[in-house]
Amino acid sequence: VNSPCLGLRKACFLLSVSAAALLLLLLPRGQPPAAPRRRPPPAAGSSRPPPQRPVSGSSAVSGTRTGSREEPADGAGGLAGSSQLVRKSRPGPVGGSGRESLELKDIFIAVKTTRKYHKSRLDLLLQTWISQARGQTFIFTDWEDRELRLKAGDHMINTNCSAVHTRQALCCKMSVEYDKFLESGQKWFCHVDDDNYVNPRTLLRLLSAFSHSQDVYVGRPSLDHPIEAADHVQSDGSKTTVKFWFATGGAGFCISRGLALKMSPWASLGNFISTAERVRLPDDCTIGYIIEGLLEVKLLHSPLFHSHLENLQRLQGESVLQQVTLSYGDPENKHNVVSVGGVFGLQQDPTRFKSVHCLLYPDTIWCPAKKMS
Ligand code: UDP
Ligand code: MN
Repeated sequence: VNSPCLGLRKACFLLSVSAAALLLLLLPRGQPPAAPRRRPPPAAGSSRPPPQRPVSGSSAVSGTRTGSREEPADGAGGLAGSSQLVRKSRPGPVGGSGRESLELKDIFIAVKTTRKYHKSRLDLLLQTWISQARGQTFIFTDWEDRELRLKAGDHMINTNCSAVHTRQALCCKMSVEYDKFLESGQKWFCHVDDDNYVNPRTLLRLLSAFSHSQDVYVGRPSLDHPIEAADHVQSDGSKTTVKFWFATGGAGFCISRGLALKMSPWASLGNFISTAERVRLPDDCTIGYIIEGLLEVKLLHSPLFHSHLENLQRLQGESVLQQVTLSYGDPENKHNVVSVGGVFGLQQDPTRFKSVHCLLYPDTIWCPAKKMS
């Protein structure tokens, strides 16, 4: 044979095998060629590649804000930002949008609770969504509970705030939540109540649409109009008022680190309590007052957060799994729960959180085994 390989046959064979292997490796695997990657701006401080969307189960929601990345539009009744979540059958690659890749560990989730709810409410959360977000969830309570300490370790924070439902006590907790978040160095602060279910995947997807260094305050307003608060007394004795929207704490809300840092003069190290006292508002309203009223940053109204102030029965089937937070009615209103069927009955799962959890995380040990066929 007159091949140039003659005499070098062995080496040549090896060479061609490795060339073939290399070719195989380089062959496209159903992916489009990588788009030219823009270098991240020097200020971004991160050289991580663009985010890879996690391929989640049946509930895949691809959180893509279809609008521009500029200041999120706001407006009375307008459901800006997150309402533009589009559903795709398969999460596609994220084009060169320059978005940061956000991970669950970048989010700080504060759960507000109190001694009397450790058993009746918190245990359910620990069993369900908190088990999927252990590393980033912190429980803010008012009592040193040894049993809870065993379960949550240093993720239980005893605020030493008093265990009463007063403005002062609740603001005391929010103030500790805020300080702990700043200390954590994480990118996002999210606050929820102990009767909220948080879907970690959709939360991550929602926040991935923004940059933590921008001013972002996202949640659901509890009213359909802004509230008005007497701000300060003028020299002539008259009071100036300020109008602002706030995200209801009972549905949960999130704040970017960039914005949280700007809130510091009114929120850090006990200032939150004095700010709340000055305007005589509850904790969640005070957050709104600082952000909208003082910093003039608009609340992004999101329909993905839910409290038991709304009719939760309206949330049904598959869409339940696409929300960021859920809640359930209090004892007087215990039929106000989301509508999910097929997992546990109402008796076994009155809040519906277990059913939701099993639909989202079917491999959970206590979830019923999936039926074959
Ligand atoms: N809470 C608290 N201290 C209290 C009573 C309630 O920290 O003395 C917390 C409770 O754990 C929950 C939130 O405040 O996270 C709202 O309480 P609840 O759901 O009982 O009342 P709502 O305002 O939703 O009707
Ligand atoms: Mn509640």
